[in-house]
Order: sequence, then C-alpha cells, then structure tokens
Amino acid sequence: MFLSVQEMELRKLRFDEVFEPGQIDFTGENLEQGSALRAAGSAELLSHTGGELRIQGQYSVEMLGQCDRCLGRTRLPLEERFDLFYRPVSQIARQEEVEIDEGEAEIGFYQDGGLELEDILREQVLLALPMQRICKSSCKGICPVCGKNRNEFACDCKPDSIDDRWGALRHLTRRESRA
Ligand SMILES: [Zn+2]
Ligand SMILES: [Zn+2]
Repeated sequence: MFLSVQEMELRKLRFDEVFEPGQIDFTGENLEQGSALRAAGSAELLSHTGGELRIQGQYSVEMLGQCDRCLGRTRLPLEERFDLFYRPVSQIARQEEVEIDEGEAEIGFYQDGGLELEDILREQVLLALPMQRICKSSCKGICPVCGKNRNEFACDCKPDSIDDRWGALRHLTRRESRA
C-alpha cells in the first residue's frame, strides 16, 4: 500500500491492512513470516514542516527464525506500536536550516512522493526482533559430542567422553616423560 503525500495533503490517511506471508519481502534475513501481518494506523502530513510525515499505528505478526542454540525453528510473536516521522529527502541538503528537537523520535526520509507501508513494516519487524533468538528458555541446544539436537534426541554422550580424551593425552604425556 502506497502512502501518498498528495493524498495526505487532502486528508489524514487511515490504513487497516492484512499482509499474508510472501507479500512483505523478508528474504536474506533468515526469517519467515509465520502468520498474516495485520497493521492498522494513520499517515498524515504535518503542517508547516516542509513536508514532514507522521506515521503511527500498530501491527501483529508471528515470525519464524532459527534458534541460536539448537538451530531449530523459533517462534517470534510480535505485537508492536510505532510512531514514526519522515522528512522529504530534499531536506537533507538543508539540514542545518531545519530545527531538530532534541529527544525527538528518530527521523527517516522519503522520496518519490510517499512511502510504501510494506517497507515501513519490514523495517519495524526487523528492529523489533530480539538479538538473541531462542526457541525456549529451557532449550538444551546441540550436543557438542555427537552434534544432535538434545531437545529431540536423548543421546548417551557424556561430557566425560571429552574428559577421556584429555585422560588419554595425560597417559601419553606420562609415558613420554617416563621414556
Ligand atoms: Zn532451541
Ligand atoms: Zn550427543
């Protein structure tokens, strides 16, 4: 959905959209969209700002990612609000002349007469995802010995099979020092 500044000159735009998986491009992010993304909000042109837009609203979606510990699938449900400001790219050149309120929300830029709602939502989803992605806090991860997912297979590997190797090495060293 294109949020057109031309239309915003006439009235505040309202949106209430549902994006099925595939409609927003998450390729290259090691992510999948696991449910429809629903977004509702408004887009308005702020008067006497030289073209500044305010886009606010909320969205919900379940994303699917990879667990950092077991590499299995992780469900990442998101339910977030956003309140964003965008200025026309043409303003960057005269940035010095534009008064910037300290503490104001971060400002983005737009060109070509508006913004695609899909691009805004994509960015918001990527920002909202946790840095650490874990399928569950009790995830046992991958066995360092056999490499199997310890949530799915109760392997018989014991941590002391690593110790054994050290033991063998110790034996070797001892024998060498005796020789
Ligand atoms: Zn996991
Ligand atoms: Zn194992």
